[in-house]
Order: sequence, then structure tokens, then C-alpha cells
Amino acid sequence: MPELPEVETVMRGLEPALVGQTIAKVEVKRADLRFPFPENFAEKLTGRRVERLERRAKYILAFLDDDTVWLSHLGMTGRFTVFGHDGGGKNLAEFYFQSGSEDAGNGKNDHVVLHLSNGTLIVYTDPRRFGIMDHFSLSEMADHKLLANLGVEPLGNQLNGAYLAEKFAGKKAPLKASLLDQKTIAGLGNIYVCEALFRAGLSPKRQSSSLSRHGKATEKTEELVQTVRACLNEAILAGGSTLSDYADANGNEGSFQQRFDVYDRENEPCRRKGCGGTVRRIVQSGRSTFYCPKCQK
Ligand SMILES: [Zn+2]
Repeated sequence: MPELPEVETVMRGLEPALVGQTIAKVEVKRADLRFPFPENFAEKLTGRRVERLERRAKYILAFLDDDTVWLSHLGMTGRFTVFGHDGGGKNLAEFYFQSGSEDAGNGKNDHVVLHLSNGTLIVYTDPRRFGIMDHFSLSEMADHKLLANLGVEPLGNQLNGAYLAEKFAGKKAPLKASLLDQKTIAGLGNIYVCEALFRAGLSPKRQSSSLSRHGKATEKTEELVQTVRACLNEAILAGGSTLSDYADANGNEGSFQQRFDVYDRENEPCRRKGCGGTVRRIVQSGRSTFYCPKCQK
């Protein structure tokens, strides 16, 4: 499932193709993805110029020139492919994070096709159809059901030690659960929480309130904020390089998967120098947690 870094990479990949361009024609090939498409979805996008893209949590927001917003969420298997106008539909760049992309542009799982006025095609492909698309006016955005209750962006300035300390004060829930709470931090997923906790040397089972001393941040709180950012930023950089390599190489998975220190490494040796521990997997709120019980306290 695409996590925040992948979504950020997709958005950055779409930017040069979409921003400043006018959508000349839209084909919507089915009635729904995870939810029905909005009424007259194709008509609403047609003729609009894309002014800018933004990522909020795992949503990609395209701001259009009539003060409306086109929202996309990649769900589990969603991806965008950009087909250039110069090579007779040659695949210029593909922004995806699942293997098995050979069908993009071939029809079966292509659910939305945007024809830009410069001839570029933007194709949305989603075999499992857990993706979401919506369209609404800018004035409705703050109250939009998918956006209204989101916490702060993990890469934005609003996430800092003081913010977490305030949120975690008196909280008995395990630290991992609190970090996954989308009302606290938006778009932070399972993999990166595991990795950030490892780097900070914090146990996922520790009480959240232990990172709040009289409502104030401790050194560990600040460190955790830094490791959350570092994990995400590194993954974004890796995702970016994977994408630009894609046209030459044969695609396949992002290189950052190999960089995980604990995620999906059950029973493998801990990578912290001198630790000698073993990575364990436990289940917390129905999700796998990977951590080293020896050096994460
Ligand atoms: Zn360890």
C-alpha cells in the first residue's frame, strides 16, 4: 500500500506534467472506485486548468482554476501513468509502487483517463479499486469528510516536540498506537512508525505519556520528531531516485524497501551497532509491529 513517501513522490512526478495544463477531456470508465465518482465528475474537470498540486496526508489535491479541488487517493494499488504526446503514446514516466504495472494504459484497470490540451495523457490505473476520487469547491475543503479531522503533517513545522508532548500528556495508549492516530499526525503509516521508533530507541509498547513531562517535550520527544522526519525524507528521496531510474531499468520496487531497519525483518539481527538483539514482531491494534526489544526501551 502506498504510504506517505510514495504519495509525495507520485505528486512530485505528476507536477511537471499537470501544473499549468488544461484538461481537455476526461474519460471515466466505471461508476465507482472505493466510492462512487462524484456526479458529472468528467464534466467538472473538463476545461479546467490545474494551478497547483499539494499532498495532504495521503491525498493528492489538484487545485483547479475555478476554485475547485480534485482529490485523489491511491488506495492500495492505485497509480498514475503519464503518456507523452510526442512518442505516440510512449510511456514517459510511471508513478507507481506496486509490481505488475504492465497493464497501465491497456484498458482493463485504467479507470480514469485525462487528456490534457497539449496531448499528454494521465491515466489512473487501480486493479483493486480501493482508490478514491472526489471533486469539491475550495470553500468546502476545510469541512470535507476526508480532510476535516486530519492531524498535522509529519513533514510540516506544526509537528514538533511541544505538539506531541501536549497530545501525549496523560495518554496511556502505547506509543505506536498514538503515532498512528491520524488525528494527531496525518498520513504517517505503519512502516515509518516502526522505523522511526527504532531509530529513536523507543519501544512501541511504551506509554505515550512517557514522552510528555508535565505536558512538555523531553529530549526523547524531540528525537522522535527528528527520526519521523528523517525516515520519511529518506524514503521520499529514495522513491524519487527509483522513479527516475524507472524509464531505463525495468521498474520494480523502490529501493527504500531494502533500507528498512526493522520493518519486515522478524527474527533477523538488530542493525544497531553493538546491540546484538533480534528483531521481533508483535501485533498492536491489529497491525504488525517490528522492533528490537533489546535496544528499544
Ligand atoms: Zn537492537
